Amino acid sequence: MEIKHNILICPVCGNVLQADDKTFACAGGHSFDRAREGYVNLLRTSKRGDKLGDDKASARSRQEFLNRGYYAPLRDALTERVRDRSGTLLDICCGEGYYTSALGRLDGIEAYGFDLSREMVRLAAKRGGATYFVANLAAIPAATGSVDTAVHLFAPFHEREFARVLRRGGRLYSVVPGARHLFGLKELLYDKPYLNDEQLPETTILRRVSVRKVSGRILLAAAEDIEAVFRMTPYYFHTGERDKEKLRGVAQLETEIEFVIGEYENP
Ligand SMILES: [Zn+2]
Repeated sequence: MEIKHNILICPVCGNVLQADDKTFACAGGHSFDRAREGYVNLLRTSKRGDKLGDDKASARSRQEFLNRGYYAPLRDALTERVRDRSGTLLDICCGEGYYTSALGRLDGIEAYGFDLSREMVRLAAKRGGATYFVANLAAIPAATGSVDTAVHLFAPFHEREFARVLRRGGRLYSVVPGARHLFGLKELLYDKPYLNDEQLPETTILRRVSVRKVSGRILLAAAEDIEAVFRMTPYYFHTGERDKEKLRGVAQLETEIEFVIGEYENP
């Protein structure tokens, strides 16, 4: 990916990073090699990136699930929201790049995406459409005020850091699950399925300017897809073995999907 409007800064000293085919380097003498797939690891940690965040199997299962188009309505709604914007776009916790790569292919948008999981970023870099890096959302290696548009799907909210990287007047699109998201899956799992609380992030720094809902129905056509979507939800880790057992032998499942897109302005 050729970089026109660079937003990246050195995670060690904060100087601008200059990119070439092989490395990202700052004037302070720090340099970071691109991986074979083109992404760069800008995470400052003694631990190896591949031990952090999601593992290989869950990254791959998520990618296969998304490639089947089940969440295409959300991708299309996001591209619709961002289509009229231009300049730099940052996907905060981009996962395996399904949304980032689509947004990065819009005219006039130069996209960046990062995630804590090196495996997710590796898969994202293979999708292309953006400059990808490994980083933590509490210390984003992007210059202050360098981002025109940010997107943030199903990830922790860090209002100070998001407001720091956004330029004044820049927009953040934050996505949370809607009340009835995957309700069909919950009906199968639980005796008393509950609705999601549909809580958009609260912030005193950014100003919420609009809220839009995206809903649809999908038919999960294979047991792997039901398992994959279940693993992508936070309740996977809170569901007991007895309830998980109920999914075994289920080959098809029809369910609602629902997302809420909150739009915020950096005043
Ligand atoms: Zn440096």
